[in-house]
Amino acid sequence: MIAEQLQPHGVTDVRVLQAMADVPREEFLPPRLKGHAYEDRALGIECGQTISQPLVVALMTQAVAPQPDDVALEVGAGSGYQAAVLSRLCRRVITIEREPALAEHAGATLKRLGYENVEVVLGDGSLGSARSALYPVILVACAAREVPPALIEQLAEAGRMVIPVETGAGQPQDLRLYTRAAEEVTYRSLFPVLFVPLRTG
Ligand code: SAH
Repeated sequence: MIAEQLQPHGVTDVRVLQAMADVPREEFLPPRLKGHAYEDRALGIECGQTISQPLVVALMTQAVAPQPDDVALEVGAGSGYQAAVLSRLCRRVITIEREPALAEHAGATLKRLGYENVEVVLGDGSLGSARSALYPVILVACAAREVPPALIEQLAEAGRMVIPVETGAGQPQDLRLYTRAAEEVTYRSLFPVLFVPLRTG
């Protein structure tokens, strides 16, 4: 995975590569899919949701440049895989999931594997998590129609947020990197992606 899927496609940050090497993706998959863990694609998990393609996980992680002292916020815990990768690179990870079965399962998997600096919160991630804001890192793993204002508000000075934004029905989404510098929030587009939708409420 490291040599064939990640390094040739723009993942250059050695800490990110090490984190991807450390986290066993098969442990985050349902038993029938474990044999497919190192294929270069997203896979179905419970509740009609997906675990993202390893390359997309790695590129999104690299884009938010997590630092050892950072607290990271993820929206859309899903299987917990992305949160586990972030947890190797940050002090603490808070990941929000709106599907109770997934939140419970992700929490149990992360605990079983010893990722003790990850907290799975059940709720609507479009509201962020005011409790531990502001965040230097925000990673949204589902596609938004519009960038939720709460997430912009909870982005720390010099913070980085990646979020897939819908561009139109049937079209790939635009993965954007938002940064806050001197109070001003700006973004640039990274690459097209396909994520399940962010469902608010
Ligand atoms: N990061 C995950 C993949 C996420 S798939 C992994 O590594 O496996 C996207 C997830 O976002 C789904 O589990 C979906 O239930 C969740 N989701 C969608 N809308 C949400 C919302 N408003 N708040 C929290 N989670 C949400």
